[in-house]
Amino acid sequence: MSFFDGWLPQAVRYDSPYFDARPGPVPDDITLLVVHNISLPCGQFGGPHVSDLFCGRIDYNTDPSFADLRGLKVSSHFFIRRDGRVIQYVSANDRAWHAGLSSFRGREKCNDFAIGVELEGSDFVAFEAAQYEALAALTIALQQHYPLTAVQGHEHIAPGRKTDPGPLFDWEHYQKLLKKAAMLVGASATLGFPVGLP
Ligand SMILES: [Zn+2]
Repeated sequence: MSFFDGWLPQAVRYDSPYFDARPGPVPDDITLLVVHNISLPCGQFGGPHVSDLFCGRIDYNTDPSFADLRGLKVSSHFFIRRDGRVIQYVSANDRAWHAGLSSFRGREKCNDFAIGVELEGSDFVAFEAAQYEALAALTIALQQHYPLTAVQGHEHIAPGRKTDPGPLFDWEHYQKLLKKAAMLVGASATLGFPVGLP
């Protein structure tokens, strides 16, 4: 995989209006990958609502739970569907609005220096094999272009406020796939994972 101007050629592209310039140097300051989960309505997969939310065109009347989303301006760089398809909304060179109040290694506002990946899912359902494969491939591709030093869950950079990707995200499996994929492309950079993992 290769990138052009922060866009992954293999991804389906839907442009989000919710982004701005990163305050730090690009690509040098882009050092963190943040993993999330999202589904709209929560627990329902395959619909257009996540993309609609990130692109500022969600119909709040579609579901009662969407009332809570009113006025929310959020986005992510990437969204990985249950079947492993990757959608991109914001150039990785720009700042997407996914992390909110957050801090990592003593630095706040993780959006400034992070790339956000949303997995279609919830805290209550296991993720699909195709999603781990796509996430690992995406991670390796990003590492070729950005000096990533760590991968964290949203729950790790916003503890007490966020719970995603949640207890059913298998960090060990993800790391195993990463190691395998890294060997294939000769990538050697090691990433910092959430504390407590083997
Ligand atoms: Zn999140």
